[in-house]
Amino acid sequence: MKSLPWWTALLAMSAPAHAQTPEMAARALVGGGAFHKAQMRIAQDYDRIVEETIRITQVPAPPFRESARAALLAGMMRDADLADVTIDAEGNVTGLRRGAARAGGPLLAVGAHLDTVFPEGTDVHVRREGHLLHAPGITDNSVSLAVMLELARALDAAGLKTRQDILFVANVGEEERGAFRGVRYLLGQGPYAHRIAAFIGLEPGDSGGITTTGVGVHRYDVTFTGPGGHSLFQFGLVSPVAAMADAIVRFDRFQPDPAKGTTVFNVGLVKGGTSINAIPAQAVMSVDMRSTDSAELARVEAWFRNALADALAAENATRSTANGAVAAQVASALPIERPVTHVAEDAPLVLQAKAAIRALGTSPASRFGSADSNIPQSLGIPAITLDSGFKYISPHSPQETMVLDRPTNLRIIAGTLAAVVLAAGAAH
Ligand SMILES: [Zn+2]
Repeated sequence: MKSLPWWTALLAMSAPAHAQTPEMAARALVGGGAFHKAQMRIAQDYDRIVEETIRITQVPAPPFRESARAALLAGMMRDADLADVTIDAEGNVTGLRRGAARAGGPLLAVGAHLDTVFPEGTDVHVRREGHLLHAPGITDNSVSLAVMLELARALDAAGLKTRQDILFVANVGEEERGAFRGVRYLLGQGPYAHRIAAFIGLEPGDSGGITTTGVGVHRYDVTFTGPGGHSLFQFGLVSPVAAMADAIVRFDRFQPDPAKGTTVFNVGLVKGGTSINAIPAQAVMSVDMRSTDSAELARVEAWFRNALADALAAENATRSTANGAVAAQVASALPIERPVTHVAEDAPLVLQAKAAIRALGTSPASRFGSADSNIPQSLGIPAITLDSGFKYISPHSPQETMVLDRPTNLRIIAGTLAAVVLAAGAAH
């Protein structure tokens, strides 16, 4: 037999720990006394989670106006005994829970966004109706912020140590207008940027799903122009409205490949013209294309470009260009590029989270979404979004409602807690 290199002996020595599957690790964690203590603490704190959700919700946090809610969260993080609680230059609140490994090493970031989609002046007073709580933003994402604080408290109460530090983040700018500015800063320039080895985002929900794919988005404002003219005396000139209508019909014939993820597209807004008796000089349409598959996103984009070119050519060939042709300008309507992003389904972070959720009695499914975890995914940092445990109705609307269902809420929160511990490495 060939002699083995010296380091195989070391590998063999450490084999039992390394050979442990995510399922074994999850069952060992969840079956242990410390985790049970953490669950007891969360159960005792149930009303407190609800109360804090209400407090957070009632401090408005419109896009780019998150500072009042950030200050509240900074205080709450200090009360939860997190270390080095700071508000960074972008407005993110961070608090550290030290792990057993040497200081300054790789860490797990757990984030929940502060911002809402609602403008300043929105009534954010919470109205309670039995097990229903109504207020804009209460589920997305106030409850996740409250649950994040509870995770920190439960870990402490149970004396649950992790190997890596956990950085708890209440971040700004997750919603559309914020264009992920909080997490982009956190991972790009923030003081912890070089240390974040994995990211878990918290969003509302009680299904135990795991978001592993970030939906890619292409979004454009297309401006059609032409010479315009009198509709009686200059009849026959090219019309940007006719070209736009033709482009929409051609675009609409795109057939997504159902075998390649989910692809959707929509012309959501059209406007143009000046008068019923004028040949229009301008028309504008807003186009949205989204996919969970980058090849399909590229295909629908190409289809859209062709539809546009063909419609312009057809209008210019059919009607008179004596006073000028119709043309179109395509401008991106996105503040940042939004590619399709993924974390590998067999990445340890995904396998551990699924094992954790399963160990708590929920069957976890991978899903797609659009949230902060897209940004670390796009940078090659393992990242997922997990449920903060509460069912939501009509998020992003004034009728937004959170449903209290104590056993389900506690079970999902426990699954998320176990996923966090496994991701940061349970320390023994
Ligand atoms: Zn959200």
